[in-house]
Amino acid sequence: MNLQSTKKLANGVDMPILGLGVYKMTDPQETVEAITKALDVGYRAIDTAALYYNEEQVGEAIRHSGVRREDIFVTTKVWNADQGYDNTLRAFEVSLKKLGMDYVDLYLTHWPVEGKYADTYRAIERLYEEKLIRVPGVSNHHAPHLQEVMKMAQIPPMVNQIEAHPYLSQEPLRAFCAEQGIAVTAWSPLGRGGVLQDETIVKIGEKYGKSAAQVVLRWHIQNDILVIPKSVTPARIEENANIFDFELSTEEMVKINGLNRNQRFGKNPDNFHFDF
Ligand code: NAD
Repeated sequence: MNLQSTKKLANGVDMPILGLGVYKMTDPQETVEAITKALDVGYRAIDTAALYYNEEQVGEAIRHSGVRREDIFVTTKVWNADQGYDNTLRAFEVSLKKLGMDYVDLYLTHWPVEGKYADTYRAIERLYEEKLIRVPGVSNHHAPHLQEVMKMAQIPPMVNQIEAHPYLSQEPLRAFCAEQGIAVTAWSPLGRGGVLQDETIVKIGEKYGKSAAQVVLRWHIQNDILVIPKSVTPARIEENANIFDFELSTEEMVKINGLNRNQRFGKNPDNFHFDF
């Protein structure tokens, strides 16, 4: 495995196992610099969303990177206020324009908005049929949400992006997704930094000369979870990608799996309210 390694999704598309998350990158120049740095280091996936208000910078950084568009995997998401069938199609057009691209690799329903998310996914399915996206997917969907979506869909979602880290290992949902052939991406893979002081993790890192962040990212990957850690700090962007020269033992994997306490740093998909 290396930074260019991919996971084969249900339709055969290869998705890089590690990408850069760009949530809360609000300063345009800082955002372009962070993405440029990541692509220089060898990242080949960028995770954005309409909500992040930085799709323009994602497009700009990619166009100026010298890396071919087709060699980069771009994910974006339809925000809650834009859900429903027609609205999603319109929101996608806006995202595409902001990105300055003629297709997106992966398009996701950002959250399962009650009464709308099944129609939102039907629109995503249409975008897939029209070849405007290479992979249809969802985010923050629990098993009942996925079941509801799959009742209506001809083509099941191929990716579910969910909060996951050592304090929220999501084993039952991951098992459900695996049964359905849905790949899982971890958002907040580092628990927004909240798991990095954990003694067990730090200690394991000391053995390999690796930071807690590197141990956690490696743990995800060995659990077959795709990761999109966020950082604007060049040294951390490099550090987070430097996880392919060591391997956690089965015993260490079990130890980190055992840290689960179902603790969320973000909202619960069964009970979320956003004011925007
Ligand atoms: P994260 O777990 O990636 O943590 C990011 C924070 O951890 C950074 O702000 C930084 O403070 C710290 N950090 C990063 N690398 C570090 C290192 N090597 N050492 C020490 N500290 C380090 O959290 P996130 O940004 O919430 O999640 C990552 C990405 O997931 C986002 O940027 C976004 O793309 C995506 N996301 C999606 C959803 C969703 O609803 N689908 C929600 C939240 C985030």
